Amino acid sequence: MNKMQALVFKDVGQLVQEEIPIPQVKNPDDVLLKVKTVGICGSDVKILEGKHHFKPNTVLGHEFCGEVVEVGSHVKYIKVGDRVAIDNNIRCGFCSFCRMGLSSQCVEIKFNALGVMRDGGYAEYCLVPEKQCFVLPPEIDDVFGSQVETLATVVNGMNHLLMNPYDYVMILGFGPIGYLFAQFAKNIAAKVAVTEIDPYRISVAKECGLTVWNPREVNVVEKITEFTYGRKADIVIEATGNALEQALQCVTPGGKVLPFGMDSSIKATIVPNEVTRWATKIIGLYLGQNTMVPSIRVFQENRLNMKPFFTKVIPLAEGLGAFECLGLDIKTMQHKPKSAMKIVMKV
Ligand SMILES: [Zn+2]
Ligand SMILES: [Zn+2]
Repeated sequence: MNKMQALVFKDVGQLVQEEIPIPQVKNPDDVLLKVKTVGICGSDVKILEGKHHFKPNTVLGHEFCGEVVEVGSHVKYIKVGDRVAIDNNIRCGFCSFCRMGLSSQCVEIKFNALGVMRDGGYAEYCLVPEKQCFVLPPEIDDVFGSQVETLATVVNGMNHLLMNPYDYVMILGFGPIGYLFAQFAKNIAAKVAVTEIDPYRISVAKECGLTVWNPREVNVVEKITEFTYGRKADIVIEATGNALEQALQCVTPGGKVLPFGMDSSIKATIVPNEVTRWATKIIGLYLGQNTMVPSIRVFQENRLNMKPFFTKVIPLAEGLGAFECLGLDIKTMQHKPKSAMKIVMKV
């Protein structure tokens, strides 16, 4: 049987490079993808730490693109040779959420995600249902192609925020998600500030020309108040998963808070009466939803400054070492300062 190289998540704390069989097209709706690039996501780091839902013995990697090399007998729209970006979240299409336009709440989404619950893109080949494939135009190269899904989550956020040109926007956390929101906000809003604790990522924010504060060094509530002439932010995007209380302190009366970062171990205390009294709009949303095509359009027209976003592109064989740059020493499972924004593996 033909073999391929893959990075396999064995269990919490164990990611190994292995030779495994190339998957075979059995399901008539599947296509076999020769993976071109795959991004390493903060949630991959969380899976390794056991802080995200996971399934042992799974090939990780949910941010990927590739070339179709084989199609199942029912595949209609995707052809061999197509270069496609992947939406890794497989939605059933039949539950009431899917059928009422809320596919991010699909009852099956948690059990099917490529690169989380079934084999994903940290490998030379991957089986993908046809409906998860989105053909890439030639203007989008393979490195950008790996990030269409990442951008699709942010576009879902933008769809709900309805950002105005006169808005003051604050983004808590300048990882890849905070970065993408900041790029949109720079294009749209009146004023943008971000917060970040990691020195490397602070330097990237500065390189992007953003106002950036370290919440461990300054009082960010005072800072945003000053920055907005006493008003506070119209929109606060919480992209860390652990700062909802701070987000609520930074938003102006009538403003919007988007809790976007994910950390299921965090609890927060809020005063419901303040949400009411100050008419705060707390907007919950999850993943992308009908946002792959819009994201392709944004990348195709080169609408975002992505230069400092891609820290490095490395071969799959160097993938295990890359986790250290994202703050996790895989051998000791100890946290380290980050030295990267996004690392993409070329397969
Ligand atoms: Zn991701
Ligand atoms: Zn569904």
